Amino acid sequence: AKVSAELIWFNGELIPWQNATVHVMSHALHYGSSVFEGIRAYKTHKGTCIFRLEEHIDRLFDSAKVYRMNIPFTREEVMQACKDAVAKNGLESAYLRPLAFLGDVGMGLRPPADAKADLMVAAFSWEAYLGADAIENGVQVGVSSWNRLAPNTMPTAAKAGGNYLSSQLISMEAGRHGYTEGIALDVNNMVSEGAGQNLFLVRKGVIYTPFSTASILPGLTRDTVIKLARNLGYEVREEPISRESLYLADEFFMTGTATEVVPVKSVDGLPVGTGSRGPITKAIQDAFFGIFNGATEIPDNWLDAVE
Ligand code: PMP
Repeated sequence: AKVSAELIWFNGELIPWQNATVHVMSHALHYGSSVFEGIRAYKTHKGTCIFRLEEHIDRLFDSAKVYRMNIPFTREEVMQACKDAVAKNGLESAYLRPLAFLGDVGMGLRPPADAKADLMVAAFSWEAYLGADAIENGVQVGVSSWNRLAPNTMPTAAKAGGNYLSSQLISMEAGRHGYTEGIALDVNNMVSEGAGQNLFLVRKGVIYTPFSTASILPGLTRDTVIKLARNLGYEVREEPISRESLYLADEFFMTGTATEVVPVKSVDGLPVGTGSRGPITKAIQDAFFGIFNGATEIPDNWLDAVE
């Protein structure tokens, strides 16, 4: 989906969207050296707020640390940039994309020790990633023939641009097979994650999600859902999940910032449970969306007003 807004935050200032360009010799373009975030701002009972902003920015700096990338701004400055990108574009709700990348720092894999990353923050309107009716009616997914990144190859806990080549293979294959999204197994052929979502199963009233070592990005929506589910009294277990567990689940849903919380109605053509959204998935969704109208109690720092 092509997106845009009037202004984009780039290296310290808000500039017109179309002027935010980079050089073709940018290191990131050649070698994948970028780290980024996906964040949402919601129209809430407290005005427009960014959801778990501080923790998203912490994850951005964690990703940069893994790649020894120097972001020449403080966390506070990046948080303010996010707020400005929403507010100065007059957006009531938005998807935010902060991205730090190595620009034209020179050829060669190893960037100069004093190389500074460029940083941009875009904010724009972006509705339901998996389609408008996905939240209620669910999506059809398939297990990909591509495995997720093996441990100690490219670290999946870092949200780095290069990792999304794996996600693209998974997502494009799913599209070719007529699925809305693809599910990947890890290198041990246990369930990992979707191309851009974490996964949850429900069986006999218990909620399961792959352990954080299953080559996943530790999603903030995943963390949110685990906390909300436990508050609702559900047992949530992080453990290795086999492929066939996907077929035998009573309910199956995916989580992510862009995706939010979306039920899966079939896997590899097999219906999940009754084939429509289950009651626990619905309860989790209600708790999740209840964050933004004050119905769900949350820690103070989960909603950050943009102005
Ligand atoms: N896994 C991958 C590969 C992702 O790209 C995303 C989306 N950022 C997620 C999981 C979900 O993470 P979050 O809930 O923090 O958006």
